[in-house]
Amino acid sequence: SVILYNDSFLMREQGKVDMEDRGYQFGDGIYEALRVYNGKMFLLDLHMKRLERSARELRLDLPYDTPHLVDRLKTLIQKNEMNDGYVYFQVTRGAIARKHRFPEKKIDCVLTGSVEATPRDEDLHPDGIKVSLLDDIRWLRCDIKTLNLLGNVLANQEAYEKGADDAILHRGGIVTEGTTCNVFMVKDGTLITHLADHFILNGITRLFVLGLAEQLGIPVEERTFTTEELLNADEVFITSTGVRVCPVTKIDEHPVGDGRPGPVSQQLLDAFNRAIVKFIAE
Ligand code: PMP
Repeated sequence: SVILYNDSFLMREQGKVDMEDRGYQFGDGIYEALRVYNGKMFLLDLHMKRLERSARELRLDLPYDTPHLVDRLKTLIQKNEMNDGYVYFQVTRGAIARKHRFPEKKIDCVLTGSVEATPRDEDLHPDGIKVSLLDDIRWLRCDIKTLNLLGNVLANQEAYEKGADDAILHRGGIVTEGTTCNVFMVKDGTLITHLADHFILNGITRLFVLGLAEQLGIPVEERTFTTEELLNADEVFITSTGVRVCPVTKIDEHPVGDGRPGPVSQQLLDAFNRAIVKFIAE
């Protein structure tokens, strides 16, 4: 496959990272992952806005302005002749002798990007998924989409070893998010999800689903909720670029509701799929 490396395109095998790249040494960098449908990037502007915000929060100077970066990503998709899949890219603070503080002289950021083809499925998990409820041991700036994902990696692995598909994390009994997704619950017809503060990543899919809920007239509360509320929810689902809307039907040994994907999750997934059909046709 063809990859993006700074401003050029290389074959995957030619892409090499310096051993003193701060992304490699400290996880000092940011990333985005976007869904591609019919060769077009879905919710592109929101992803680029989030990237710009992540860069500002880490005081990282992006190597190119957004129009140029978008142009490079479009070319990357074209060069790979990809219709449906993902584009992933990251920017690190660059390569320099290892020191925690920012480089004193200006060095170039390192941009790398790649694609992964994957078919477009209407419903990835028709029976819902099983999750494990685990402690959120991550840092206090989960709102920044940084490369430093060890808390997410450890929880995802622990969930996997427990026979679950993912983990839902909580801080002292307050549900935050999943390891790669946001978490929603439905109680008496109201959609509830953690407010977008420093404890969660404000998912682009989360924002899109909140918009769909508004259009469908589903009441929404953006607030903290407890693990107890989660276990007593009528429905639980996760959202991410990868899964869109995915029902959670089991939390450790507790079935959610009647143990089947619920009507609100289905209604939102249907609306989501209609929006994608419309996006493709535009
Ligand atoms: N939270 C975390 C921790 C994530 O890694 C992701 C996926 N990148 C999300 C939420 C969902 O974000 P998005 O909808 O933008 O994919």
